[in-house]
Amino acid sequence: MNQWPEWLPLKQSLRGRTPYGAPQVEAEARLNTNENPYSLPDSVVAAIEDSIHSHLAGLNRYPDRDALSLRGHLARYIERYVLKDQTHSITGANIWPANGSNEVLQSILLAFGETVAGFTPSYSMHPILAESVGKSFKSVPLRADFAPDFEILKGFLTSRKPDLFFVTTPNNPTGRSLRSAEIASIAESMATHGGLLVVDEAYGEFSDERSAIELLNLYPNLIVVRTLSKALAFAGARLGYAIAREEAIKALQLVRLPYHLSSLTQAAAIAALDNAEILLSGVSHLKVERERVSESLQAMGLTVIPSDANFILFGGERLTAAQNLWQRLLDGGVLIRDVGIQGYLRVTIGTDAENEKFLETLSRLLQGS
Ligand code: PMP
Repeated sequence: MNQWPEWLPLKQSLRGRTPYGAPQVEAEARLNTNENPYSLPDSVVAAIEDSIHSHLAGLNRYPDRDALSLRGHLARYIERYVLKDQTHSITGANIWPANGSNEVLQSILLAFGETVAGFTPSYSMHPILAESVGKSFKSVPLRADFAPDFEILKGFLTSRKPDLFFVTTPNNPTGRSLRSAEIASIAESMATHGGLLVVDEAYGEFSDERSAIELLNLYPNLIVVRTLSKALAFAGARLGYAIAREEAIKALQLVRLPYHLSSLTQAAAIAALDNAEILLSGVSHLKVERERVSESLQAMGLTVIPSDANFILFGGERLTAAQNLWQRLLDGGVLIRDVGIQGYLRVTIGTDAENEKFLETLSRLLQGS
């Protein structure tokens, strides 16, 4: 749509745009935004209620603008649940939280660099956020199997020398992970021209690969971004965070909005992190289901991109041959995501019943095509 009124001084770069977002429509199986399908258990709900309650009378005051207690909790979560090598020490000084990792990514783009790049296809908000703060975003295409071509990447980084490079691992929408050694080699290349590597690990808890946080000792030019929205089943509360060297975290504070994180969000997130073990308990079953759904899709003759996340990108000739499959799945009660890659669709792993509903509906539609 390009029908903005004359009197509205909207930036030229935004005129042809539509707001980002997947359709939010009711469906029996909502498998389109990579959320954790399990609602919070009563014990965690009660803990969050208590934590929020203790802050209600104090709402006349601004929140802790440095979110010190929450940052300490996030650091302990990382040490306890994310790092495999316990020789690394992460403290609150290495953490910066905000309202979802999208806000963290925006702060990174506000604080650092002029030239930005990343792989495509990858998380579509990276270029959107870069462009919305006035930066151009150069894309490095992934191979046809959605793995990176490291020769092409190396050539790109040496010739273009971007200030920021974005990597998503496991990648959204493909589900593929990068190995720690591969991330290290990109960090190394970026360091040679003084660039910063941003590693988006929104789906990190679903992967068996090691977190890039373990590379911070060797590569100061690294910022890792994670979220409570996915594995920790906390998407509605909006809490994401950066993990980086202390100097990089201090730089992010230069662009934060005053009191950006409400007392209630901080209180809720602290209670959620105190119950991380319970919230994470569905992850291993989701991984089992991911393998089951992948195998079932393959058995239908579809191409499945190996996934390390809580979603699967699938495609192939049978999918291409089926007309309007996304809409017909929705008509059958199953909402999945058309991520704009020709010949592919993405499905989030849901509850067992939702996955079954998806597989049955898809199988029926493919047979009818
Ligand atoms: N990064 C990636 C790769 C994502 O897929 C998402 C959510 N779709 C986000 C970041 C943002 O998540 P949130 O703002 O909920 O933390």
